[in-house]
Amino acid sequence: MEERIASLVEKLRGKADCALVTDDINRRYLTGMKSSAGYVLVFPEETVLIIDSRYIEKARESVRHCRVEELTGGIYAAVKKELTAHGAKTAAVEARSLTVQRLHALEKALPGFSFLADDTLSGALYDLRTVKTPAELERIEAAQQLAEAALDNLLHKLHAGMTEREVALELDFYMRRHGAEDLSFETIALTGAHTSMPHGVPDDRRIAAGDFVLMDFGAVVDGYHSDMTRTVCVGEPTEEMREIYHIVRAAQDAALAAARPGITGDALDAAARDVIREAGYGEYFGHAVGHGVGLEIHEFPVASPKREQVLAPGHVVTVEPGIYLPGKFGVRIEDFVHITENGCENLTNIPNKLICL
Ligand code: ZN
Ligand code: ZN
Repeated sequence: MEERIASLVEKLRGKADCALVTDDINRRYLTGMKSSAGYVLVFPEETVLIIDSRYIEKARESVRHCRVEELTGGIYAAVKKELTAHGAKTAAVEARSLTVQRLHALEKALPGFSFLADDTLSGALYDLRTVKTPAELERIEAAQQLAEAALDNLLHKLHAGMTEREVALELDFYMRRHGAEDLSFETIALTGAHTSMPHGVPDDRRIAAGDFVLMDFGAVVDGYHSDMTRTVCVGEPTEEMREIYHIVRAAQDAALAAARPGITGDALDAAARDVIREAGYGEYFGHAVGHGVGLEIHEFPVASPKREQVLAPGHVVTVEPGIYLPGKFGVRIEDFVHITENGCENLTNIPNKLICL
């Protein structure tokens, strides 16, 4: 935490006297504590967490490197007191999450202070969050292990006749029962023709023999998310299903082999997309190949045709090509990797080969 704060102070130097962090995720990133309210003020000399009575006991007990102040009156008066005490005139705010309404309220309540509302602070925080520390990677790995155990458990039970909702519930229950703080997102479990909808919503449709079942899910451990998609077949797939699966798998293998420091997001996307295009299915792969994963399920870097962000050691990015044939079926296979000094480490331990049950 101390290192994050030191890096943030460095990034703000010459632009603002302090940072005023109000975003729930960024506050957790800087304090290590989950809460739905609170302000973090980062000054070069010290960091102050202003938080109300609902969280004060936990904050005093767990937040070590911030001065914790209980909010008893108005938040703007408390902020003003800290700014004044530190001789700070300019506070950087989070352009990507502070509402326009809140910014106007701050400006109105604190005349004489200025608020830097360009991308300086949000950009700095996202840049820091994009590069994971070993401690963050450990949590991401723990989240993935839970998700893999949930899939392993499910595969022993998966059978024709189960509904999509039952499949999703089995995965969710297992992850939560075994220690997930939350689910990474609403689990996607689709079967039959529904699998052609990349982000379809599970309903009462039942698995029929010979159907694909597409599952996209993850667990959250200590704030950190995992993300995995597997498409398995209950019974015997058709030749066409096998062929499509193998194209998607080859596309994923190509991108996994290309993932290394220095590659741009669009080049990583192209590594997978080219395989699908050359096989004649380019028009059936509409989404980006990958996204960063961390305290949020969608972070930076983004691996899409439109993003030229360069991947670097410490980045965590998904590799999730798919082919979706409307009215028939779809296949997506998603792993996620940690970019290392020389290449990448796959954080997904379940092989990407076609599983037929
Ligand atoms: Zn996913
Ligand atoms: Zn994903």
